[in-house]
Amino acid sequence: MAPITLPGYGDIEPLSPAAEALVKSEDPEHPANLIPELCREFYKLGWVTGTGGGISMRQGPLVYLAPSGVQKERILPEHMFVLPFAQSSVPKPGSKRDFVRVPSKKGLSESQCTPLFWNAFTQRDAQSCIHTHSQHAVMLTLLLGKGAKSFRISHQEMIKGVRLGGVGKTLAYFNTLEVPIIENTAREEDLTESMAEAMTTYPDAAAILVRRHGVYVWGPTWESAKTQAECLDYLFEIAVKMLLAGMPLEGDN
Ligand SMILES: [Zn+2]
Repeated sequence: MAPITLPGYGDIEPLSPAAEALVKSEDPEHPANLIPELCREFYKLGWVTGTGGGISMRQGPLVYLAPSGVQKERILPEHMFVLPFAQSSVPKPGSKRDFVRVPSKKGLSESQCTPLFWNAFTQRDAQSCIHTHSQHAVMLTLLLGKGAKSFRISHQEMIKGVRLGGVGKTLAYFNTLEVPIIENTAREEDLTESMAEAMTTYPDAAAILVRRHGVYVWGPTWESAKTQAECLDYLFEIAVKMLLAGMPLEGDN
């Protein structure tokens, strides 16, 4: 493989010792250490059980991805995939991706969410994107019904933890939160275009719900992506309870 030139890193030969060094750090906040730790936490929340869901992070010119189809609570730093953010082609379904580092363990493949994470990176300049299969997100899309294009809720304190577009100013208590809903597809990667379209149609949306599947949430930092994922999950859960109690989601009733 040809060396990849990375601003601040110089030329890195894929699969070389220099590429291996990208996943070794004593810093607990290094993406190679944080991704496994956060996946363990998300596993306990029921967000990434059954090998689905995950988190990606950018660091300078690099993107760190967890592997696909693995025990999410047992991921190690050496299982990380590292990609240059600048890809030779858009990482859409079926396209080849450029890698700086791939894990040597057999049977690991990059996250199937890769092009969806890229939507958040390119359209919102997000630095981190989280995908969960939370039952609160799924149940909410079911209760809202097949024709629902978005989820709207107002007059909830936790709305204040969500940012305009996921990366702008935080919403105020009196703002209405709106999250678009897209239809699920047979393969994760096939959601790429409908997610991108929904992000364009709803420029203020901080997340995308996928009916019968889960949610994609992003942020300008990993901390912000995590906080917003928590606030949104709280709002999805309370909305489910409100709908089951026959209460409207909007208004100060
Ligand atoms: Zn998924």
